[in-house]
Amino acid sequence: MKQVFNFSAGPAVLPKPVLEKAQAELLNYNNTGISVMEMSHRSKMYEDILQAAKSNLKKLMAIPDNYSILFLQGGASLQFHMVPLNFAQNKKIGVIDTGNWSLKAIEEAEKINGTTVEVLASSKDKNYSYIPSINSIPDDLAYLHITSNNTLEGTVFTDYPDTDVPLVLDASSNILSCDLDVSKFALIYAGAQKNIGPAGVTVVIIRNDFKSDVENLPSMLSYENMIKTDSMFNTPPTYGIYVANLVFEWILDQGGVLAITEANRDKANRLYDYIDSSDFYTCPVDGKDRSINNIPFKTGSETLDNVFIKKAEEQNLINIKGHRLIGGMRASLYNAFPSEGVDSLIHFMKTFKEETK
Ligand code: PMP
Repeated sequence: MKQVFNFSAGPAVLPKPVLEKAQAELLNYNNTGISVMEMSHRSKMYEDILQAAKSNLKKLMAIPDNYSILFLQGGASLQFHMVPLNFAQNKKIGVIDTGNWSLKAIEEAEKINGTTVEVLASSKDKNYSYIPSINSIPDDLAYLHITSNNTLEGTVFTDYPDTDVPLVLDASSNILSCDLDVSKFALIYAGAQKNIGPAGVTVVIIRNDFKSDVENLPSMLSYENMIKTDSMFNTPPTYGIYVANLVFEWILDQGGVLAITEANRDKANRLYDYIDSSDFYTCPVDGKDRSINNIPFKTGSETLDNVFIKKAEEQNLINIKGHRLIGGMRASLYNAFPSEGVDSLIHFMKTFKEETK
């Protein structure tokens, strides 16, 4: 099998030991003679997998006892709709506008009956290249929505406001890859396909006193119903949850989230240091707000960027093309991205620069 380094922003690289374990267990899980894919979600065997996934995630993120952990479907994009549907009908929410995904959260919230959105801060003036500061937070907000890591723009929040307004966090692109104080948030959600597992699972961590006052919500869109049924109102994404649990076990084996954060920081710093020291590549993001997960960079010429992307692919450095809205390149260095892949990229960048000059 050829050695490929996959810089995809998601679905993204998974830890090799996880894929190997899934492969080894594919046909015959734990001597049951069947695959997890073929197992009833109501069976004892599957119940054990679900509970293990919850307890491992709880351990990894130090989730306090007064929170519920849900495994839902519909991606983070459904959460853009489900959160205001439950908590903000005929109410006002606040949003920090940090780019593409926060704009989607605004757009979907505005479709809800009577929800109004107040943008409390925005970094639109400089192409979303920094994290704006929040001057004041009105106390009549149903909640304040923040996107912790901006996958396209490559910015990240490191501080969250101290406020009595419930905080809702879209942590899709940095959950489990940096330390997060869960107790600051009323609700955290994340699509799985970057740091958790295969696409199709959405993790929601919700404080039990953050309750909807809306009656008769559709069952599939009611957090209360999903908490009551322990994510089993209907058939959950069983195989995705199983792989997520293998990833959780792998992170625990690596020493937990703090150890992974250190490794991620090291990978990202090496790339940023090279970009900053070169007179050829630039990263548009302010130093203090740089994401360690998604690193956008450019050569300054769109034509050259395209050549870079093509040649990188020929060297098995794949999916390094930036998002179509941003252009240039983007290296997504999630938990499972190997350190040697960063060395290979930097080596390639040096060679490309020499060949081009
Ligand atoms: N929020 C962020 C920060 C994301 O990066 C993404 C996907 N890349 C989404 C939301 C949307 O996720 P999904 O495709 O799971 O709906």
